[in-house]
Amino acid sequence: MLRCREIAEVVADAKQLPWWRKPELWMHLGICKACRLYASQMSIISKSAKKLAFRHIDKVKEKKLTEEVLKANSKTFEQK
Ligand SMILES: [Zn+2]
Repeated sequence: MLRCREIAEVVADAKQLPWWRKPELWMHLGICKACRLYASQMSIISKSAKKLAFRHIDKVKEKKLTEEVLKANSKTFEQK
């Protein structure tokens, strides 16, 4: 069975864990409150990081669109 130290490494990248090792992870999380808490916290951190990344992408897109509009406006005024 996996040890607590191994769980810390595995939980961070659980999707990469081969299917035959997942029951070991679930068993450990079932009996170890500390690792269960750690896994829960890692999940919250991961979801928060993804939300922040999407917000950043939206701001980048917004900035790019603003620049394109300003560029188009300046070309319009140059033609007159
Ligand atoms: Zn543990």
